[in-house]
Amino acid sequence: MYCAKCGALLPDDAMFCSKCGAKVSGDLPVDSAVPVSTTAAPTGTRGEDAYMEGWKYMNVTHEYDKGVKLYTEAINLGCANMEDAYFSRGVAYSRELG
Ligand SMILES: [Zn+2]
Repeated sequence: MYCAKCGALLPDDAMFCSKCGAKVSGDLPVDSAVPVSTTAAPTGTRGEDAYMEGWKYMNVTHEYDKGVKLYTEAINLGCANMEDAYFSRGVAYSRELG
């Protein structure tokens, strides 16, 4: 492409004219340095919350049906203590069934 200001021949990916220093605006918008943000949901916190809630139902209020629900949620959301969540959910199940 050519510099719009001085007409110098420039590489297509040039951002500035190497001859006059003008900012080169090509036909295509120049991507900024900001990459497209990854859409990965933040992991952990929601699962941790559910895990802690489940723990509370299990050990404080002894509402095992809610414990099962919360542990399941924690597992689905992905918490740090997955093995523990699975185990605790199993315990909650068995207690709920008496
Ligand atoms: Zn130029």
